[in-house]
Amino acid sequence: MNVSVVLFTADLRLHDHPPLRAAVDGSGEVVPLFVRDRAVDRAGFAVPNRLAFLADCLRELDAGLRERGGRLVVRSGGLVEEVCKAAAEADAGAVHLAADVSGHAQRREERLRRALAAAGRRLHVHDAVTAAVPAGAVTPAGSDHYAVFTPYFRQWSRQPLRHAVAAPRRVRVPDGVGSGPLPGRDGLSGVSAGLAAGGETEGRRRLTAWLRAGIGSYEDRHDDLAGDATSRLSPHLHFGTLSPVELVHRSRKAGGPGAEAFVRQLAWRDFHRQVLAARPSAATADYRTKQDRWRTGPAADEDAGAWRAGRTGYPIVDAAMRQLRHEGWMHNRGRLLTASFLAKTLYVDWRVGARHFLELLVDGDVANNQLNWQWVAGTGTDTRPNRVLNPVAQARRYDPDGAYVRRWVPELAGLPGAKVHEPWKLDGPERAALDYPEPIVDLADGLARFRRARERD
Ligand SMILES: Cc1cc2nc3c(=O)[nH]c(=O)nc-3n(C[C@H](O)[C@H](O)[C@H](O)COP(=O)(O)OP(=O)(O)OC[C@H]3O[C@@H](n4cnc5c(N)ncnc54)[C@H](O)[C@@H]3O)c2cc1C
Repeated sequence: MNVSVVLFTADLRLHDHPPLRAAVDGSGEVVPLFVRDRAVDRAGFAVPNRLAFLADCLRELDAGLRERGGRLVVRSGGLVEEVCKAAAEADAGAVHLAADVSGHAQRREERLRRALAAAGRRLHVHDAVTAAVPAGAVTPAGSDHYAVFTPYFRQWSRQPLRHAVAAPRRVRVPDGVGSGPLPGRDGLSGVSAGLAAGGETEGRRRLTAWLRAGIGSYEDRHDDLAGDATSRLSPHLHFGTLSPVELVHRSRKAGGPGAEAFVRQLAWRDFHRQVLAARPSAATADYRTKQDRWRTGPAADEDAGAWRAGRTGYPIVDAAMRQLRHEGWMHNRGRLLTASFLAKTLYVDWRVGARHFLELLVDGDVANNQLNWQWVAGTGTDTRPNRVLNPVAQARRYDPDGAYVRRWVPELAGLPGAKVHEPWKLDGPERAALDYPEPIVDLADGLARFRRARERD
């Protein structure tokens, strides 16, 4: 009997899953395998919010496979060892896997290829599963990746998109391949109270609702903090419960300026992936160093602590940081302005902020998080690396009537209109009645400090 293993990683779905499709079409039997990789735990990447979402995804994947006559095989330990063991138990001739871009994923793939080859088995790596245009598929003359988004996007838009493949009708799993228990949400502590539910059904439900009622106004409303009018599909893209290729096809079919603007954002995801694939060190090292001598010591630690806690005294910053803690997710405009506040106004190392985001974000992703942080900090691919976002101006523009701040900072909920953005301007008794901190930094001082630091380059 011809048997294959399909290793699920960041692609926890049955629809448009090329590795599964190839295995089902080419084999009699398939071992659908998920390995809870010890190396991911050791790297500190397995945090409560993502573990909870992952548990939902695996439960659904197992249920979907069972509806088709199969089941999910779950193991935990060293990924390469566990895949080799499962392949040996099933006497599988091949393993199918989706390509991924981080340094960890690239090294893992190479070790797996060698270990399988030593046992006479093949590794098939499928492109375009976690990205609509695979990393490295388009490159500029003389370089292995694009460092500027606009020319990348021009090329990206011209690429033919592969067709989405159908979910298999039946999956036959060989007898005698043991599985550990499915990881559950029980026993996880520190999960955000407002965390979204995971799983492919929920992802597809959200996508359908988005295409019907959200995408049309995306261009006009994506920066409206209180309106919350973005897709919130990022956790599903991160865990692969939705296929980015299917998302691009269906968005283009929806058509219109909203869909065009949305597809452009999806291209940002591929952009960062192709940067990381070519420069895995950008996960931790400056992509384009500005020789920053970031603030360190007790005052910087205290500022970073106030930022994490959502108590900087700048309501829009605090609102976004509290949304992050409560939901394990933050609006993109919030991510931009809180990151700029930490890295530029407070002049604290972007890695400090990126680490905090990765501890909480359900969509926390090495490529998107680290490279967006670098973009905001001016050490990445932004062509205007020294611009600084003023949190008060951002608040007036993207939360004009203060509804977002009032939602997340209850201490200020009684303040009318845009007054909520500058509580320090209130008069004595009104100010004294508020249980809310004074600003931890003067914006003009923060700006001057940052400019002085960067003028050294
Ligand atoms: C400092 C900072 C950190 C970030 N960290 C992450 C992260 O860890 N994981 C993550 O998925 N996104 C990250 N982003 C990008 C972006 O903020 C989120 O993808 C977006 O807010 C998710 O919400 P949504 O799904 O409603 O987005 P939508 O506006 O509906 O966009 C649709 C999809 O496009 C992609 N996308 C949108 N904007 C970007 C972008 N700037 N870069 C890359 N892809 C994008 C995402 O996959 C998103 O789900 C970060 C941005 C900043 C500024």
